Amino acid sequence: MAELMQQVIGHERVKQVLAECQRRDSLPPSFIFAGPSGVGKFMVALAWAQWVLCKQTANGACGVCADCIQVANRTHSNLIVIEPEKNSIKLDQTRELMRQLSLQQWQGRRVVIFNEAQLLNPHAANSILKVVEEPPEGTHFVFVTSSYFAMISTLRSRSQRIQFQPLSPDQLRQSGWVLGSAQGRMDQLEKLTAEGMVQAREVAVSLLPKLLANEYWQASQEDFKPIAKDREQLGFLFGIWRQILRDSFMQDSQLRTHQDFNVEASVSNLPSQARLEMYDLFQNQEQALLRNADPQLTLESTLISVKQLQNMGSQH
Ligand SMILES: [Zn+2]
Repeated sequence: MAELMQQVIGHERVKQVLAECQRRDSLPPSFIFAGPSGVGKFMVALAWAQWVLCKQTANGACGVCADCIQVANRTHSNLIVIEPEKNSIKLDQTRELMRQLSLQQWQGRRVVIFNEAQLLNPHAANSILKVVEEPPEGTHFVFVTSSYFAMISTLRSRSQRIQFQPLSPDQLRQSGWVLGSAQGRMDQLEKLTAEGMVQAREVAVSLLPKLLANEYWQASQEDFKPIAKDREQLGFLFGIWRQILRDSFMQDSQLRTHQDFNVEASVSNLPSQARLEMYDLFQNQEQALLRNADPQLTLESTLISVKQLQNMGSQH
């Protein structure tokens, strides 16, 4: 079992900042890891927890001691990971956290990671403000979020923001394999199983081959109409399409999120460069929607860009 940080693809600047904090032994009580979804922010949070909880070295983590292994397996008693339950982090969950934090038998340092922290509901967020501002000795919080501005401002103002950048196509290709083998923990979409989401996923999976078919423009306008009105659904659609493109780079089909022959066939016709650029395109459009871009215009510009990428592909 190696040190987790060494398995993180890219994010060199983030690693430097975290290493500098550790070297100076000046850890802020609370970090916000913000940036696009699916780039490995949660992995970095876990890797950072390993740094904090490993007692074998002051620089990074040894990767082999009991602390390191327990962090990697998420079984360390001084590591608390809080994830959304049915699309929100609820007051019950933060109450339970407060109870755990108040127990006396804790020793040494503790790391609390909130994954998808933008899904903290307002009551839950308010209930932890005080402890985030003045945490018990040795306790550190990391809020991992793909939507910084969706977090309440009082939590933002109490935390040090670490901004993650999108991965380059090459890094993405590498991390696609890492992400797949990490049981999909790093992409929120893979956790969404509620009924509505299953349906939205089916729609997204059925629309991609239509989009990629040559006559897509006339044929698919109708199909896209209902989605174009709904910012959230459109963002979700882009997320699913990114997953499908990511899947197409995985050699081991068991690791793929979507196992649909039609989709695989329509995507695998594209040259890999076009697929990588399409991935970037969908990711950028997802981000644009988070920044309040108009869904209808975003969809239209996406359809045009996809067409251009396909032409680029067919010229080679
Ligand atoms: Zn260690």
